[in-house]
Amino acid sequence: MLADKDRIFRNLYGFYDWGLEGARKRGAWDGTKSILTKGRDAIIEDVKASGLRGRGGAGFPTGLKWSFMPKKNDGRPHYLVVNADESEPGTCKDREVMRHDPHLLIEGCLIAGFAMGANTGYIYIRGEFIRERERLQAAIDQAYEANLIGKNNLHGYDFDLYVHHGAGAYICGEETALLESLEGKKGQPRLKPPFPANVGLYGCPTTVQNVESIAVVPDILRRGPAWFAAIGRPNNTGTKLFCISGHVNKPCNVEEAMGLPLRELIDTHAGGVRGGWDNLMAVIPGGSSMPLVPAGADQADTLMMDFDGCRDKKSALGTAAVIVMDKSTDIIRAMARISYFYKHESCGQCTPCREGMGWMWRVLTRMAEGRAQKREIGMLLEVTTQIEGHTICAFGDGAAWPVQGLLRHFRPEIERRIDEYSRNADAHAASRVAAE
Ligand code: SF4
Repeated sequence: MLADKDRIFRNLYGFYDWGLEGARKRGAWDGTKSILTKGRDAIIEDVKASGLRGRGGAGFPTGLKWSFMPKKNDGRPHYLVVNADESEPGTCKDREVMRHDPHLLIEGCLIAGFAMGANTGYIYIRGEFIRERERLQAAIDQAYEANLIGKNNLHGYDFDLYVHHGAGAYICGEETALLESLEGKKGQPRLKPPFPANVGLYGCPTTVQNVESIAVVPDILRRGPAWFAAIGRPNNTGTKLFCISGHVNKPCNVEEAMGLPLRELIDTHAGGVRGGWDNLMAVIPGGSSMPLVPAGADQADTLMMDFDGCRDKKSALGTAAVIVMDKSTDIIRAMARISYFYKHESCGQCTPCREGMGWMWRVLTRMAEGRAQKREIGMLLEVTTQIEGHTICAFGDGAAWPVQGLLRHFRPEIERRIDEYSRNADAHAASRVAAE
């Protein structure tokens, strides 16, 4: 369990002052200038040494990503873009950082911008986050007023930071769709390559990074990469914000060490599973686009909540949005609802995604009622494999995986419903014949 002294987000619940004075008391903006004097390469090396992996879902090593930015300036400006479009169902962590500890993010932007040679940063915030945008903007205004950022600031590195408000489309959380939207176009993902590090915002070198990934950087550099790397497990280091929702006694957001067993995470912070662990049906460990993990004899103790631990269970940590479902859940209906979400959010560029999402939703809706044929189960699986890996962006994969998880673990339940439906239909037909 994470010791209080190792917490980075000390105002996650908003009990204290979110403003500059409060943030400074908690250690923000302390020694920022001396961090910058280490130089660009040293900062990137420290971030690499800490083992920090992106907190937005993919888990790509942060320091390595930063190192892809061109070292020499070819005349084009470099940009840092912060992805604050938090839209993955079940996820509500970046929102809390922006509401209650926005200065960690602003300081992180300055440092990350410096490390990548970017003098301008944009924070692309989700359309629904109205109060968060106001709070973030107020904190940025404070930082400008105190001369912490901006031109000729006291850190000696010119850096301007802008908040851009999206319009609430899920797909704008995909980095290239976000860049398109930021440029004022339709939020549709771009084909890669070229990658944003070479051709990003306005055709210039750009790094897009999640809010949490940027907000932890100042503390990593202040306390040293070894401190961060010592938390968690090898290849899965540091602390992580977990969003625990669904059928637990006390749903919550919490900062914990990576690699904690699922049972410890839920029992310690969320008051346990509603009705006890025997009442657990399944868990989605990383937001709705990740495959579910069914309850099993030892699942709660062996599911380690980090990138590798979730991968070992054929799922993924994603955004670490832990969605708990007890035995009262209609699991097929739940997956049909998730499919409806993805059908609604598909940007429509790729045929497998545009057509496949609606098709999966319609089949799953029938399967939830049992109004299907057993041969359709195999057909559904095949369609998911035709979507996965055959689209412009990872949205197609993220929509196919939950369905694959359902078919992998709950096929007998789908078959049982089909049998039950046909039995009832037969009985109904027989009673009609008898009545005639
Ligand atoms: Fe758009 Fe879906 Fe293709 Fe992504 S996979 S580009 S969301 S149609």
